[in-house]
Amino acid sequence: MKCYNGNEFRTIKTTHGGGYGRCKWCHGSGCIACPGEVVKDAQRAIEPLFRADIENEDDLRLLKEYFGASAIQHAFGPDGDGINEIKYNAALATVLQEMRRCKHEPQP
Ligand SMILES: [Zn+2]
Repeated sequence: MKCYNGNEFRTIKTTHGGGYGRCKWCHGSGCIACPGEVVKDAQRAIEPLFRADIENEDDLRLLKEYFGASAIQHAFGPDGDGINEIKYNAALATVLQEMRRCKHEPQP
């Protein structure tokens, strides 16, 4: 089995059966590139906390309010809840954004 180990192509097969099914090098039969392919795919699957339209001033207002300097300082300050507060802010901003869109878009 030809496989890429990060530096060169080698003929290597892991002793344990079953690799990562979506590995582009071994297509699932198992190789040393499999763990790296798992990580790469996982990183691609990461969803953003909040999507803002840079052309939309209401979105920019939400960005400033929920992810601006004072929001970050509060989240990571003595009274803040750290990353959980950021996640909460993201959920809140997303709900407000969605409510605004529903209000402005024609309903079926
Ligand atoms: Zn592989």
